[in-house]
Amino acid sequence: MPTMETIVSLCKRRGFIFQSSEIYGGLGSCWDYGPLGVELKRNVKEAWWRSAVHRRDDMVGLDASILMHPRVWEASGHCEGFTDPLVDCKQCQHRFRADHLKKDKCPDCGGELTESRQFNLMFKTFMGPVEDQAAVVWMRPETAQGIFVNFLNVSTAMRKKLPFGIAQIGKAFRNEITPGNFTFRTREFEQMEIEYFVEPSTAEEHYHRWVSTRREWYVQHGIREENLRLRDHEADELAHYAKACCDVEYKFPFGWSELEGIANRADFDLNRHSEFSGTKLTYFDTKTNEHIVPYVIEPSAGADRGCLAFLVDAYHEEEVAGRQRLVMRFHKDLAPIKVAVLPLLKNRPELVELAHNLNEDLRRFCTTMYDDTASIGKLYRRQDEIGTLFCVTVDVDSLTDNAVTLRERDTMAQERIGVDRLAEVIRGRLGVD
Ligand code: ATP
Repeated sequence: MPTMETIVSLCKRRGFIFQSSEIYGGLGSCWDYGPLGVELKRNVKEAWWRSAVHRRDDMVGLDASILMHPRVWEASGHCEGFTDPLVDCKQCQHRFRADHLKKDKCPDCGGELTESRQFNLMFKTFMGPVEDQAAVVWMRPETAQGIFVNFLNVSTAMRKKLPFGIAQIGKAFRNEITPGNFTFRTREFEQMEIEYFVEPSTAEEHYHRWVSTRREWYVQHGIREENLRLRDHEADELAHYAKACCDVEYKFPFGWSELEGIANRADFDLNRHSEFSGTKLTYFDTKTNEHIVPYVIEPSAGADRGCLAFLVDAYHEEEVAGRQRLVMRFHKDLAPIKVAVLPLLKNRPELVELAHNLNEDLRRFCTTMYDDTASIGKLYRRQDEIGTLFCVTVDVDSLTDNAVTLRERDTMAQERIGVDRLAEVIRGRLGVD
């Protein structure tokens, strides 16, 4: 397994992830996705959306606003309870989360620590020109509440019958006390959340189904089974209203850590919003002619944590003919670039033209990259390092036999393919129409 330093440096060198505002010395725990990182992250979100929404009859999507009515966060319990215990070292002034410390001394200098105090993780801002208490709004610390407050809108507009779910991808903000481990814990991040509403008596069954569906999703997208595990929350870890919660954990270089949490939140959220808003958030069951408050199962994942796990898991170093090869074995749906088109001789205009034409053809249905700036060995190595699935090499023979060499990333197998069949072959292997 690569170290985090290896991953961070590859990400910077090859344009996956850069430090935010780097030329100003960087901004703590904020990261920018570069040209390849943005493709990877879009692909992760697309893959999630496809499986959570497009390929199901019982799910619909939503994109709620980041700023919401301040009462939302009173109802959800975030104003009161979304806190972490904070301690300061009296000697070196470093700050820690008390619940992350093993001893009651400063882990950095051994100094004495202050009493712990509760620190609210929500970012505060002001709406309108006057910065007073009446204008306070919060940057949402999770996307979930946008779903709960739209429960009636969505179920009425879409005429959904239980069980059904609402999925959302969007930014969330938490003023974490100790961010770190690259993009694992940041103060601004993206969540991919589902609220799945069910009849209360069926909640447990749906909960177990979602735990395995979500674990499987990571495996289907290339994460090795041995690097994934499920961890059930102990009773004392559970929120008072939650019936059950299970984390999907990944074996990161810094240890097993949460990728996603799946919780059975019972009827807590809909009840609280009904109470605080005065609008009844219920569902009319036509079988029993009764209004019921559905239970909710919440699979809540992080797009950034997911990307980090896909990056770590894809990383492979191997020896090929006495030389080191670094290859990112991304799943085909996640690889940022699907095909690289590489002309062997850039001083032959007919050959360059053929390569450009092929590139034009291929990028109608997948991401491609054209590169003629180095020798073929070097070009292959560059593409392996960013996980490009296929390299198409155009050589002098292509001008006479009207064929090109198709090289596959993982096996490095090469085959000669007629130009007229190339697009069809690649489409087939990518599984796109
Ligand atoms: P942790 O225990 O790591 O702080 P959490 O249990 O508070 O996480 P949830 O509130 O369950 O996290 O959020 C759901 C998902 O959102 C997490 O599984 C994770 O993927 C993502 N997430 C939460 N906080 C962060 C963060 N600070 N940076 C990046 N992703 C995050």
